[in-house]
Amino acid sequence: MTRRALIAGNWKMYKTPTEAVALAREIWAEAKNPGAVDVLVAPPFTSLQPVEDVIRGSAILLAGQNMHWESQGAFTGEVSAQMLKDAGCSHVILGHSERRQLFGETDEGVGRKNKAAHAADLIPIVCVGETLAERDGGTTEAVVERQLKAALADLAAEHVADTVIAYEPVWAIGTGRNATSAQAQEVHAFLRGLIVKWHGEATGAAVRILYGGSVKPDNAAELLAAPDVDGALVGGASLVADSFLKIVKAAPAR
Ligand code: PEP
Repeated sequence: MTRRALIAGNWKMYKTPTEAVALAREIWAEAKNPGAVDVLVAPPFTSLQPVEDVIRGSAILLAGQNMHWESQGAFTGEVSAQMLKDAGCSHVILGHSERRQLFGETDEGVGRKNKAAHAADLIPIVCVGETLAERDGGTTEAVVERQLKAALADLAAEHVADTVIAYEPVWAIGTGRNATSAQAQEVHAFLRGLIVKWHGEATGAAVRILYGGSVKPDNAAELLAAPDVDGALVGGASLVADSFLKIVKAAPAR
């Protein structure tokens, strides 16, 4: 089973629509047909439609950074899976550690969002990862298992295979301190093993598991060469076209 690498840029709360269009144009110019690698950008909500206008017709994929699990309703400040889909998204990031830590997202809420995303034909990128205290306390595997189990709860088998997982150790996000490729590989293999145990070999082999946490042009090739690392979720380095495109080029063709 070969899994195409996916390089995803999480623009977080950066870039006005004008700035986002400029960045998208630079990425489009170099990566509109990225070949054996999938390329995705996740701008803020206000920039989804303008960025979609730039990348339309290319192979570049578009994602929201969050969504509500309900399809509509009196939920001020939220957007639904259907709204993201209609704005041109194929993917949505769910359960990012900043959402969990700063906005109180729960494991159970991520599970609900995962089901709602699949129901709307959006592919979720579900983030899991331990804090530094949890790693130092030896509970990394217990933490990511709890998060993954909740995220995949009651999900139809075919949707498990379609879910993208992002292992993002919290201590590596935005800190400049990336996990080593051996640390990433260890957790990725553990996560894949859980999916094999719960859903069988074929599903485990199909699921893409991205690494996220201070991925930069100078560490991308080594991280992406690990056998269970199927791509990267890139924050800071995705905000500059040159560094994002270098990471795209570092991804192996599988
Ligand atoms: C992220 O936002 O998911 C992330 C990994 O950020 P950074 O690359 O800046 O660590």
